Amino acid sequence: MAFKTRITKPAEAKPWYGDLPVESLYTMGIAGEKFFRTLKDKGKIIGSRCDKCDYVYVPPKMYCERCFEKLDKTVIVGLVGTLNSFTYVYIDVDGNPLPKPEIVGLINLDGASTNLMHRLGECKMDDLCIGMRVEAVLKPAKQRTGSINDIKYFRTTKKK
Ligand SMILES: [Zn+2]
Repeated sequence: MAFKTRITKPAEAKPWYGDLPVESLYTMGIAGEKFFRTLKDKGKIIGSRCDKCDYVYVPPKMYCERCFEKLDKTVIVGLVGTLNSFTYVYIDVDGNPLPKPEIVGLINLDGASTNLMHRLGECKMDDLCIGMRVEAVLKPAKQRTGSINDIKYFRTTKKK
């Protein structure tokens, strides 16, 4: 097979055995960079606001998914929010079994229009219910690396 061959029928595709010396670099993008830098340096969670749609994206986006407006307005949302859903997860992002199941939830932070998915900690499944208030537990400032894991987990607040 030549290096560049055009096929017209999918059944003509053939595997190419061997290693490809390809590396890739994933970047967080402009909005993601701002989100993780603010989380790491200030311990705050930001979103991007579309005034036209009256909608706040967390994590922030460069463009509104509803009206395609460029979003350059950043807002700080709360570290507290409402638990909108939760479940057990048994595998990690690579599909490997976790040593023990974790509870994750969809959290609508105060001031945000979207849900953020994250771990729930300091609780058992039976302690949780949809609509309860949860708060972010951040790593100490010196331990933060600019990752979503700078938020250790969310836990229930005293008020329900
Ligand atoms: Zn919009």
